[in-house]
Amino acid sequence: MAKKQQVKRKGTRGKTTRRFPRKIDLDRILVPIDFSEHSKKALEYAVPFAHQFNATLDLLYVVEPTIYPADFSFGQVGFPNVEEELRVRGHHELEQLIVKTIGGRVKARAMVRTGKAFFEIDRYAQEEEIDLIIIATHGHTGIEHVLFGSTAEKVIRHAPCPVLVIPSVGKKFVK
Ligand code: ADP
Repeated sequence: MAKKQQVKRKGTRGKTTRRFPRKIDLDRILVPIDFSEHSKKALEYAVPFAHQFNATLDLLYVVEPTIYPADFSFGQVGFPNVEEELRVRGHHELEQLIVKTIGGRVKARAMVRTGKAFFEIDRYAQEEEIDLIIIATHGHTGIEHVLFGSTAEKVIRHAPCPVLVIPSVGKKFVK
């Protein structure tokens, strides 16, 4: 089967063409960062990855608004000031991370969005025509999974591009 796929075939003008692309075009890599050690580990993979492919990195932090059902007569209440502060601080922290972890090795930019993390991550990837998402996962199972859900899992399910998942345990290929 594999041998058959590698066979060259003739194009319409008699030129010989290959069935597979010869080059992987990876221009932009998205690394969602929630400042957990897991997400910083994903960044450790993303930096040499971007360097090898001559790609740029987008570091994205999503501020998830906290909504309190304060009073039924008012409806739900959010805290815009807190959100704005988190956006500003989040952006600052991402920039610090870029300076400390990436230095000048690859081009990187800090981005902040507000909303549900998995939704905003996939929306950003779609809007910005991201080629690859690199994301870490705790690998929660059983009751932990039921209680906490999995951002990584939801990102994968709705992603508009390939996703590289870095598990918290297991084989590593970054030396
Ligand atoms: P799991 O998906 O394994 O249950 P988490 O839900 O804590 O674990 O998150 C997995 C990854 O999703 C994080 O390492 C991070 O890359 C990304 N992520 C989660 N929340 C956010 C957020 N608010 N902003 C950006 N990235 C996030």
